[in-house]
Amino acid sequence: MLLLLADQFIFISAWFYIGTVIATLALLAYGSAAVCSGFYCRVICSGSTSERIISLTFDDGPHETLTPAILDILNKYDVKSAFFCVGNRAAENPHLIMRMDKEGHIIGNHSGSHHFLFDLFSRKKIAEDLEENDKIIDRIINKKVSLFRPPYGVTNPAVAAAVRARGYTVIGWSLKSRDTVIKNENLLLERLGQKLKNGGIILFHDNMDVTARILDRFIQHAAERNFRFERLDHLLKINAYE
Ligand SMILES: [Zn+2]
Repeated sequence: MLLLLADQFIFISAWFYIGTVIATLALLAYGSAAVCSGFYCRVICSGSTSERIISLTFDDGPHETLTPAILDILNKYDVKSAFFCVGNRAAENPHLIMRMDKEGHIIGNHSGSHHFLFDLFSRKKIAEDLEENDKIIDRIINKKVSLFRPPYGVTNPAVAAAVRARGYTVIGWSLKSRDTVIKNENLLLERLGQKLKNGGIILFHDNMDVTARILDRFIQHAAERNFRFERLDHLLKINAYE
């Protein structure tokens, strides 16, 4: 608009318009894809601490066989974690949601459907999708979820509006394990080892076979380097439930 107004008085090259449009679109795309940019809504991506504390988070479950394997390892080392669950998968595996809760882990909302077009849903449909997940978790463990992690880490105006309407605290991550793409155990462990930082929030997926295979070694490696695990809500000093 400003450019069009200015054009009444001075000559503005068509390339300048094109450049402005491209730059705006690039900025919007960055804001949508970079979960920690906080472009559309506030997203917490790490804890602020000078201590060697890290926090584990697991997305996309619960998975019928891999989630129990992961819970067994967490139990072995007494590491309390956060699980950002998908509503329809929680409904199929209520016993795993109950187990997470009973064993001292917290549960967050990672949408009801994890639909691949989730980010193109209307505001109303996104709010309904998220509410459906909350209801499923509430029915199983009688707790009202406060934490939300956007599917694919994407935020946009519709997701931000649903987040505001439902009052969630939005959680991102500071270290993406890339367990959905790296299938070599040693490569994955080496990469994670290089990137451990104080206050780090680590993103894993509890429906990935490789994650269940490396978790034991990863926890040992972090402990050997004097990192301590703290549950997400304790690291961030926030409430996991209403
Ligand atoms: Zn996901």
